[in-house]
Amino acid sequence: MSASQFKLCARSDDLLLALRLDSGERPFYLSRSGVFLLHTISAKPALALDDSILQTLDIASDGDAVRPAERCHEPQSTGTEHVELLRPLYATRVFTMLAVTVPPLAVVGVMLLAWGGWMTSVDLALLGSMYVLTALGVTIGFHRLYTHKSFATRGPIAAFFAICGSMSAQGPVIWWAAVHRAHHQHSDREQDPHSPHAGRAAGWIGSVRGFLHAHAGWLFADVRADLRRYVPDLLADATAVRINNAFPYIVVAGILLPGIVGGLITASWMGALLGTLWGGVVRIFVLHHVTWSINSVCHVWGAREYASGDHSRNNPIFGILAFGEGWHNNHHAFPASARHGLRWWQLDMSWLIIRSLERIGLAKKVRLPSPERLAARRG
Ligand SMILES: [Zn+2]
Ligand SMILES: [Zn+2]
Repeated sequence: MSASQFKLCARSDDLLLALRLDSGERPFYLSRSGVFLLHTISAKPALALDDSILQTLDIASDGDAVRPAERCHEPQSTGTEHVELLRPLYATRVFTMLAVTVPPLAVVGVMLLAWGGWMTSVDLALLGSMYVLTALGVTIGFHRLYTHKSFATRGPIAAFFAICGSMSAQGPVIWWAAVHRAHHQHSDREQDPHSPHAGRAAGWIGSVRGFLHAHAGWLFADVRADLRRYVPDLLADATAVRINNAFPYIVVAGILLPGIVGGLITASWMGALLGTLWGGVVRIFVLHHVTWSINSVCHVWGAREYASGDHSRNNPIFGILAFGEGWHNNHHAFPASARHGLRWWQLDMSWLIIRSLERIGLAKKVRLPSPERLAARRG
């Protein structure tokens, strides 16, 4: 890959650092709003990364894994790709604010509509199907595949899950993975981006504040952690970078899609509007709060079956609603495991789908903790 294939697209104060990865010599920069491919004729990246961070996170060092350091799919050439750079920080804040506040307001609106009889079986089906699709995008794609490498799959399938996850409006995939890896490394300690416990004040007011911070407040705080160190593998993955950069467009597409389907099924503009509201906006609202509850509720309420060195809990309600993610103490004890519901009665929809993919040859290198490791960590 020659340097002449790249060009510098933009600069801004939001630029934190340009860096060069050993593999493929592709330069990147990471802003607080996400990770972007940088091109450099003039801006020479200055920092080389190693993947030691992956080992400390149990992402590439699980003794149970067959080939633990494998990437989920091969990186492709990015030499001629032109990538839109730089979203200013204030735009990110505004976007986050809209993503968090508009859905609840819309929910109030559609509840009034539903009260008036304006919720049809088509709307319910659109809400349910978009919820399942985008929730699995987060749990299987963002979390178990991209963040923890708990299994490997083909490029198009990985991309499909990443796109579905992006429709959930929870942030670009590489940024999401970086924040989540930081959460695991510092779980419930000072540098955890969203702990309900770390740094909270005493008394019930401190508890409530800690809970609200872990749930959604952290989205508005400056995450000043050195996020780029957590994702060298994903920065080297051209498909992941492309999907990461397309995040705002994918969110909008995910809102419009159920509207189009609703409009076509009912052959009416009202059907399109209601489909957009129920399958797009309300669905984002519901999944936001289910996902955020893993960070808040599942570090406060539930059982602790394994020694995990933090406050993570197994919460059955979110085990079901979040398709297995609520078995959060299991997950913190064995972060690389593709299966979070480790007991037969701990329903884990995401695991059932990964296992099905494995049976038909579409998932490989599925990682599970050995019986010895399970026994050793039982609290
Ligand atoms: Zn956690
Ligand atoms: Zn995790």
